[in-house]
Amino acid sequence: MAKVSETTLEINLAALKHNFEFLKSKLQNNTLFLAVVKAFAYGSDAAVIAHFLQKMKVDYFAVAYINEGVALRKAGIKTPILVLHPQLNNLSLAIEHCLEPSLYTLKIMQEFERLTIQQHQKHYPVHIKFNTGLNRLGFEANELDLILKQLSKTKTLRVKSVFSHLAASEDLEEKDFTLGQIDRYKNLSTKFIQGLGYPVIRHLCNTSGVLNYPEAHFDMVRCGIGLFGYGNAHKDAQNFRPIAALKSIISQIHSVNKGESVGYNRGFISPLGSEIATIPIGHADGIGRHFGHGVGVVSICGKKAPIVGNVCMDMIMVDVSGIDCKEGDEVVLFGPEFSAESAAEVANTISYELITGISQRVKREILTK
Ligand SMILES: *Cc1c(COP(=O)(O)O)cnc(C)c1O
Repeated sequence: MAKVSETTLEINLAALKHNFEFLKSKLQNNTLFLAVVKAFAYGSDAAVIAHFLQKMKVDYFAVAYINEGVALRKAGIKTPILVLHPQLNNLSLAIEHCLEPSLYTLKIMQEFERLTIQQHQKHYPVHIKFNTGLNRLGFEANELDLILKQLSKTKTLRVKSVFSHLAASEDLEEKDFTLGQIDRYKNLSTKFIQGLGYPVIRHLCNTSGVLNYPEAHFDMVRCGIGLFGYGNAHKDAQNFRPIAALKSIISQIHSVNKGESVGYNRGFISPLGSEIATIPIGHADGIGRHFGHGVGVVSICGKKAPIVGNVCMDMIMVDVSGIDCKEGDEVVLFGPEFSAESAAEVANTISYELITGISQRVKREILTK
């Protein structure tokens, strides 16, 4: 791997391919694969990831918001794109860019139908989302008849899929709850399809659902985090290859005497004298203040160096006492050998938050092996 010369998020497409193939190996041959590439493909680079997966013949993409889908279309992505959480204010942009909305309230369904009529659309693909226990987005079971009535009258909408989302697929202690969700989804989607009168795609599982509930894959699965190299459980981690490595370099090293302080508000006082390295990455890049005061560590020449004092906007200082290093040397914040999962865990967060928080200021570099 090439050495970096500034703060860089390396994105490894060979690892992405491995993860995609590993997840596919868990599916029946005819199960469709939807890749979730919301939030810049979990903080990496949505256009690069989507182009790569499009070449690997992924069946569907999903994003959270309409503007994320617009960006993918502008980057040349032709694969169908499901928008999980469209908002009323820019629904017409979805039509303009051939994005397929999830309809989760009557209001959004009626408004979207109105726009499709206004724009002379026919059989515009939409997806119906049911709430089965997450209590976040989706129609309730008791709205089934109302939705079916509405859909029976429409000439402009065509339902492509009916789906729901699991609340605790990674947590085997919540297995009974999840089995209940699967059961509710099975009943609801069966009744829905019967009422609709034509077949549609059924999908329920995210990454952990794919791994833990093979009986619930239905016609399609929706994977995000696994593609990027993380499982939600330690037992799964070894099967994935993290696609991203966050690296930086040492800008400067200070020798600090016993009793001297480091950083804003004198957040660190050296107990015995220390070698302190300054790294050009801070909370504006996604290294939150909760990593300060020794909570977070970085890896330098294979050795762990704790973050000392307060995390600044553009910098952190780390204690490199006893580590044979110099200005310009590489610093790893997380990577294949030092996982984002464990980096996140020490700060009481999860890999999802750490990786999606890496800000757009950080240079992205694409590696192919
Ligand atoms: C984010 C999201 C996913 C992907 O979940 P992972 O745990 O990252 O695989 C799937 N479905 C919905 C509705 C989501 O919001």
